[in-house]
Amino acid sequence: MINLILFGPPGSGKGTQAKKLAEKYKLIHISTGDLFRYEMGNDTPLGLKAKEFIAAGNLVPDSITVGMLENKLNKHLDSAGFILDGFPRTIAQCEALDKIFADKNMSISKLVALEVGEEELIKRLLERGKTSGRKDDSDESIIENRIKVYHEETSPVFNYYDNQKLSHKINGIGSIEDIFGRLCDSIDSLS
Ligand code: ADP
Repeated sequence: MINLILFGPPGSGKGTQAKKLAEKYKLIHISTGDLFRYEMGNDTPLGLKAKEFIAAGNLVPDSITVGMLENKLNKHLDSAGFILDGFPRTIAQCEALDKIFADKNMSISKLVALEVGEEELIKRLLERGKTSGRKDDSDESIIENRIKVYHEETSPVFNYYDNQKLSHKINGIGSIEDIFGRLCDSIDSLS
């Protein structure tokens, strides 16, 4: 099994690259952002709970997020592996993931981190907001809050896996295909 974490700030291209990687390596792509948007779109109790946090550009509480992630994992345990996109985003989520994986005899193969500068992130997110219909992409102050939350709560996740020698930084600037090539090189070096 290959279990990857695709890491990076909002707008770094995780979603785009995760889809391509999932197809190439036959992995199940789990985006917690997409799962929340699905729940919100269907006005489920979980979606209603998550809505206010997402609209403000804050993280959804760990207890809600971890349960949702585990449900999705449990549906695909017979797969070739997973690519986690947007999870874990806090140290508590890292620890919860360790426990979930240990119980299933699974482990993280690698965390690949897409590196993109702040100005470029804001530009990309505002551009995406024009077509995505995502309210959290349309307001510069919400985008800035998401980046602030990333620095404060999410960036320690990199160190968590770096300490275990499982991290790899990838330059996230360039064409989609160039960045995809860099990610594939990193993944191919696993075997
Ligand atoms: P992006 O990475 O472009 O900001 P996502 O689609 O991954 O966007 O996430 C959108 C929003 O969903 C986040 O701003 C956050 O509110 C919520 N969210 C997604 N994943 C998590 C997570 N692992 N923990 C807490 N909240 C999350």
